[in-house]
Amino acid sequence: MAGGLLAGVRAWAAGGEVVVPVHHVLDRRAACRARHVRDFWGRIWPQAVADFAQCGVRLAVTSGEGEVERPAWRTPVVQGLRRGCLNVVVTDRIPVQWDGGRGLAGVTAMYRGHAMCMIAIARAHGHRIPFVATNTCTHEMLHAVLGDVFENRPAGWRGQARESRVDAVATGLWWGGGMAGVKVGAGGFWGGWGG
Ligand SMILES: [Zn+2]
Repeated sequence: MAGGLLAGVRAWAAGGEVVVPVHHVLDRRAACRARHVRDFWGRIWPQAVADFAQCGVRLAVTSGEGEVERPAWRTPVVQGLRRGCLNVVVTDRIPVQWDGGRGLAGVTAMYRGHAMCMIAIARAHGHRIPFVATNTCTHEMLHAVLGDVFENRPAGWRGQARESRVDAVATGLWWGGGMAGVKVGAGGFWGGWGG
């Protein structure tokens, strides 16, 4: 009775809220322009919080200082991450080892057992073009909540499909569509990382 199961999930998703603990890690070495900082905290981040809130996912946010070390020829070292949270590292640019020199606005990955989104403040943006360029924070956090974080980005069309899926869901949130799937994903995400 797939229909019955679906109705059950919908009923559960409709009631109550799911809380996802998010920890901001503010890179103390980041060199950011004041207008980018203002735009990020004044517009881009609140838009992402509202996106999640309107589908019943509340982000319980804490913040602390940290650091993104970028040793030459070696994997970057991120300090200040917190266990059991979705870590959102706010820095000036994504280390070249992780964005492949593409100047990305954000990346999301598992880093030493931590779920981590990293946002480059100068490149981050709010919702721009439906299905193509959605809020950087919403986009990256959806990768984590929808489970993409647990595997490396697949090459070719599978990787592209994953990007399209996240942008489609983000567009649904932007337009105020009831995205119960996000809540189910968020519940599972936190369920798997609690404790
Ligand atoms: Zn993406």
